[in-house]
Amino acid sequence: MAKKQYAVIGMGRFGFSVANALSGMGFDVLAIDSDEQRTQAVSNIVTHAVSADSTDEEALRALGIRNFEVVVVAIGEDIQSSILTTLILKDIGVETIIVKAQNELHGKVLQKIGADKVIYPERDMGMRVAHHLTSPNVLDYIEISDDYSILEMKVAKDMIGKNLRQLDVRARFGCNVMAIKHGTKMDISPYADAPLKEGDILVIVGEKMDLTKIELAYPK
Ligand code: ATP
Repeated sequence: MAKKQYAVIGMGRFGFSVANALSGMGFDVLAIDSDEQRTQAVSNIVTHAVSADSTDEEALRALGIRNFEVVVVAIGEDIQSSILTTLILKDIGVETIIVKAQNELHGKVLQKIGADKVIYPERDMGMRVAHHLTSPNVLDYIEISDDYSILEMKVAKDMIGKNLRQLDVRARFGCNVMAIKHGTKMDISPYADAPLKEGDILVIVGEKMDLTKIELAYPK
């Protein structure tokens, strides 16, 4: 199967980091920025780096942007350019368009005009850090919709030696333990009667409010 081709528009910190990571994973990446200095900075990291204004439809067509399966629009501050670029990519017929939003309203507009995925890196990272700060057992917190999230938490002191049946998070908190990580192993159909060990990590899915209740119930 041919390697997927990615284009990233906007080489701010976020766009640069996406382009750099994709390149490191061995993918072909086209980096675009209207600022020549920014494209220069990324030129020896990605396959191609081009200075172009992404609100110029002809320029995007000339770059063959339609041939890229995934285009990431990482223009944050200039909301008008971000929206216009997304609209043009949609018109051109790019398969998957992923756009970074600056705020909720920006995100809503992007969704309305057909962005396939809208991401809020600052908001999401802020939320993850906050959950980690309030409960040291929380390793990760990933929002999957407006109401639901996935919580990764270390087995708390009070959980060690107990099993999932005894913890009964489904009845007590309305959440589901989807998996348990033991070191590098991931058990995706955890056995209800196996005692939890120190260092185990629970992967729990549930409503945000319910997940917060678990965090608060196991502060140590
Ligand atoms: P960061 O990820 O650093 O927080 P940001 O969200 O503040 O970035 P900006 O700095 O506004 O994003 O924009 C990111 C990049 O997008 C900049 O390098 C800018 O030159 C580029 N950019 C802005 N408008 C366009 C455009 N129309 N065409 C191409 N590149 C653009």
